[in-house]
Amino acid sequence: MSALTEFADQDDYLLDGDRLNAAEVADAVAGMVSDLPPGDPDGLLVWLAARLRGQAPEGEAPALLTALYAARWYAVHRLRDAEVLEAMTGALAAAEAELSGLPCPHAEDEGAHPVFDDWADPEQDAGFVAALQDEAAWEEWHEEMAGAGDEGRGTWEGARCPGHLAALAREALSDLAGARAEWGEDGDTQA
Ligand SMILES: [Zn+2]
Repeated sequence: MSALTEFADQDDYLLDGDRLNAAEVADAVAGMVSDLPPGDPDGLLVWLAARLRGQAPEGEAPALLTALYAARWYAVHRLRDAEVLEAMTGALAAAEAELSGLPCPHAEDEGAHPVFDDWADPEQDAGFVAALQDEAAWEEWHEEMAGAGDEGRGTWEGARCPGHLAALAREALSDLAGARAEWGEDGDTQA
């Protein structure tokens, strides 16, 4: 399946037809998890999954993987298309396999990785995607969050660290496997 060319809305999520528009992706995923999904949420998920495959860890992978992680609640509660779910899990598993083999220098720096559990809500997790593509955006986001008083914000390097991203992929895969099990044998069922 060549989802990259089949997803009609892909230009909405690219800058100059080429680079990931992380802010648009963040908005769309935030909409998905707050029940205001974009026009073609399933198409967007397949496209994000396809784009994640083969991404260098220091490139778009942090934003793409975190977007799929944040979107997992949409997948758990709304998605009922087995092919879309398989696209997500396949890309996350491949990313996890690659990232978990790379070093994480933060074993003794506990605050480096963001801790999503400490944050307010899934929509906020999704909004964080916009800050992962560019350090200036991250700094701006960090300043806003400091005012909000939430903990577990992490550092720019920590938010893009392979060890952190591999852990996000594992958590998402576990939640998605649970969702798939609840659909039953057939898949494609209407909940
Ligand atoms: Zn790390």
